[in-house]
Amino acid sequence: MDRHKYILDEKDMPTQWYNIQADLPEPLPPLRHPVTKEPTILPPPLFCDELNKQEFSTERWIDIPEEVQDVYKTWRPTTLHRAHRLEKLLDTPAKIFYKYEGTSQAGSHKPNTAVAQAYYNKQAGVKRIATETGAGQWGSAMAMGCMFFGLELKVYMVKVSYQQKPYRRILMETWGAQCVPSPSTDTQFGNKILAEDPESPGSLGMAISEAVEDAATHDDTRYALGSVLNHVLLHQTVNGLETKKLMEQADIYPDIIVGCIGGGSNAAGMFLPFVKDKIAGTKPDLRIICVEPASCPTVTKGLYAWDYGDVAGMAPIALMYTLGHSFVPPPVHAGGLRYHGMAPIVCHLHKLGFIEATAVGQLGTFEAGVTFARTEGIISAPETNHAIRVTIDEALKCKATGESKNILLAHSGHGHFDMSAYELYLSGKLEDYDYPEEKVKEALKDLPEVPAA
Ligand SMILES: *Cc1c(COP(=O)(O)O)cnc(C)c1O
Repeated sequence: MDRHKYILDEKDMPTQWYNIQADLPEPLPPLRHPVTKEPTILPPPLFCDELNKQEFSTERWIDIPEEVQDVYKTWRPTTLHRAHRLEKLLDTPAKIFYKYEGTSQAGSHKPNTAVAQAYYNKQAGVKRIATETGAGQWGSAMAMGCMFFGLELKVYMVKVSYQQKPYRRILMETWGAQCVPSPSTDTQFGNKILAEDPESPGSLGMAISEAVEDAATHDDTRYALGSVLNHVLLHQTVNGLETKKLMEQADIYPDIIVGCIGGGSNAAGMFLPFVKDKIAGTKPDLRIICVEPASCPTVTKGLYAWDYGDVAGMAPIALMYTLGHSFVPPPVHAGGLRYHGMAPIVCHLHKLGFIEATAVGQLGTFEAGVTFARTEGIISAPETNHAIRVTIDEALKCKATGESKNILLAHSGHGHFDMSAYELYLSGKLEDYDYPEEKVKEALKDLPEVPAA
């Protein structure tokens, strides 16, 4: 039988991240300032210089600082697995590979950028970071990153999640971070919301506004974002580079790459080093499939338009697929996929025809996640289940056609703190949400007008 897993030697780990901006056939459209609408950088009071430099760099390879490599090595390289048992159950001639990012201390791919962001802020003399978190995956990754580099961290956690999902908060506190429910009494914005509605359950948009205000009003504090931005996708390429090297060593090349997209960072981290070959024309048949929830279908149903990155309209404006910055997605359990926009790099590559997107319903994703758990053993994050759904569907298509394709799944993390969602599924109580067409139509009326550059 073929191998079960492929493990990179520590000495072969990537020492540089791959920057797709060097190889784009057309450059990314510049960000615009939320007020002046003129081309802009990331607001300097919120982001340190090095991260701003990386955001706009067109250098192909960017060195991973040794201190960051050193922390990466506490869990990286991660393992590439062959899903023999899943293939057998599906009775497919396809070969299914998955790279598992759930072995990081925080349980997902997010520490790949959290560690790097903590390092650059520490280098810049920053003492403290403020950030937001929905269900807690980003907050816990950042808490881990800040712990490694001795930075203070304050996390504004959406109040419903703070109350309903205490375990990720306790992770953050154990790593030494401070976590408060948002809206909080610690910011002007939070106090304003609480004055209007003391029972407000909070939202990711409100939490972002609180964290941004915190960073803007403390000299020693900067802000950190866990997805969407170019520098975040850059840091995530460590995973795709490891995978590419492992596959090269085994003389395998994927026919199909599948990943879930919320802001786009884990999928892009995997596919960017491969899309390079497609852009160069050496792998014209490679298919890259990005999977989103049917209830928040940013790429498959959104407009390609200029929109704010945040709900309050304070963040820079990007050209991207969007459902409208005021759109509040239905409460699917894949909290990490509930974002109105999408990484500009992912949108640009989709627009240029290098990658595809598809949307799937919640019930089908949990069915796929349980199938994965009952074959490969891993209990996956609800976000990851979206990618597993499409991986299984593609493997079944291979069964129908008899083709033995190599399918590579970007497995973004475990679901050990999502047991209540699995319980709902197992007891038949999990719901599917339709695409909220009317709400999207409303939200798309609020797009900013941006003059040509
Ligand atoms: C946050 C998260 C996602 C979605 O974020 P991307 O930036 O699109 O990768 C996906 N999977 C897991 C496990 C997450 O924690």
